Amino acid sequence: MLCSHLLPSLPHLRSLRLLGSAASRTVAVKQPQILPETLTFEDPSAFRAKSACELLRALGIFRLCSFPMLINNCGKLMSVARTLLGRRGFSLLLRPTVYAQFVAGENESEISHSMEKMSWLGLRPMLAVPIEEDLGESTGEKRYDDNMEAMLECVRLSHSNAWSKDPMMQLKITALLSPELCVKLSTLLAQQPQPYNLDLLVRAMDGEPITFPGLEEKAASHFLCGLQRLNKIAEASVNKVRVLVDAEYTYMNPALSLVTMAMMKKFNKDCPWIWTTYQCYLKESRSLLLEALRLSKSEGFCLGVKLVRGAYMDKERKLAEKEGRVDPIHQCWEDTNDSYNGSLDVMLQVISQEPERYRIIVATHNEDSVRRAAKRMEELGIDKDGGSVCFGQLLGMCDHVSLTLAKEGYSVYKSVPYGSVDDTLPYLVRRAQENRTVLQGIRKERDLLRLELNRRLRLSLRGGS
Ligand SMILES: Cc1cc2nc3c(=O)[nH]c(=O)nc-3n(C[C@H](O)[C@H](O)[C@H](O)COP(=O)(O)OP(=O)(O)OC[C@H]3O[C@@H](n4cnc5c(N)ncnc54)[C@H](O)[C@@H]3O)c2cc1C
Repeated sequence: MLCSHLLPSLPHLRSLRLLGSAASRTVAVKQPQILPETLTFEDPSAFRAKSACELLRALGIFRLCSFPMLINNCGKLMSVARTLLGRRGFSLLLRPTVYAQFVAGENESEISHSMEKMSWLGLRPMLAVPIEEDLGESTGEKRYDDNMEAMLECVRLSHSNAWSKDPMMQLKITALLSPELCVKLSTLLAQQPQPYNLDLLVRAMDGEPITFPGLEEKAASHFLCGLQRLNKIAEASVNKVRVLVDAEYTYMNPALSLVTMAMMKKFNKDCPWIWTTYQCYLKESRSLLLEALRLSKSEGFCLGVKLVRGAYMDKERKLAEKEGRVDPIHQCWEDTNDSYNGSLDVMLQVISQEPERYRIIVATHNEDSVRRAAKRMEELGIDKDGGSVCFGQLLGMCDHVSLTLAKEGYSVYKSVPYGSVDDTLPYLVRRAQENRTVLQGIRKERDLLRLELNRRLRLSLRGGS
């Protein structure tokens, strides 16, 4: 008896599953809908579909994440644990805990299992291959080709399964093009009097030689290979999977943006298949977004935008200080919030006018931003599930936000990394440190998890007496 009450509540699971199917949309519409401004994300029933083990695991992990010392040193702690326990012992420790919370699995059957569960909950997966590089970590051409194969496999995984309507995946350009080249290109772009002609890159993607003022022959040849790798991924994904290109560090973002714009020009003729990312913690983010909107009109491509606050704040600030540059990040969190909300408004406005040309994913764990987006969508008459606006959170984080939104009929994606413990570990460490303010502030999610566990315990005790 005790066990059955600790199990997830299946009728709820079924109703959530219905949300994902066409037939159910009528059912979902008939349910009382909450007004966007009153979305409180305080309903523990969002967690009814989770097993007791999953609730306990999340509670334990979020409790550990509330200690700044553990998050700040998680990389070192993990490598000590790996040395002491050995590869196998370490994997046995991580797999049922941190790995199970934040990673979908290692092979296709594990990933499918996680994704099916997610789609039962009305959530959509956005697969992410956990490969990224920073300066000094560059690998050879062969390694970039292998990364391309991994991305192509990600395209296949994303669309060959019936997990999700309108699948998405994330792509880091530095997995296919060396960070050194991206820095070099960014420096050269800043020195050029005229904007670089996107058509030259579009032609290079099809194999034409590339001319880039100031770039030496070897770098140009690597650039060409990188563009062709990106072209293969875009060709494989167009009309199947939306590819969301990540934003990284300011010292390489101009190059990433240029390449992404060229991909958008080539592949986003009728609909956004390639998306770009704006980091609203950057002082220049609004002008970059406005410039992209201008370019999308003048060059005739559709624009897909992932709007984030930004993940590399500490490193950006330290670097600016070291180099005696002005800090590129907004002075305080409130300014970043204003920047996020302002850019959100700009995008929602253009989407309300031309929903087929513009799309946005509101990629945040911040409840106020989510509420604001939902409210503006209603005011502007944007469809909750029309595809032009969706929401995104990381797998294992802020499920109370994701599940509530899905229950209310919005499109919600979870960014889902997959791969072996060894492959995903550096990614997890980076994500934990980048999101430590979010992780440390997950008090509400912990309270809701506790409420749901208590509810099940009370039910079991009542059933047992
Ligand atoms: C689906 C998805 C995709 C993502 N893709 C990217 C990506 O491509 N590139 C990328 O960089 N990040 C990316 N992120 C990570 C994202 O930037 C972090 O999740 C985010 O920074 C945390 O912000 P929040 O809005 O969720 O939370 P909040 O808690 O509301 O905001 C925290 C963020 O605010 C900013 N901030 C905090 N303190 C200050 C301060 N003192 N001054 C100024 N700003 C401050 C920082 O950006 C910090 O991370 C992605 C996240 C998701 C969910």
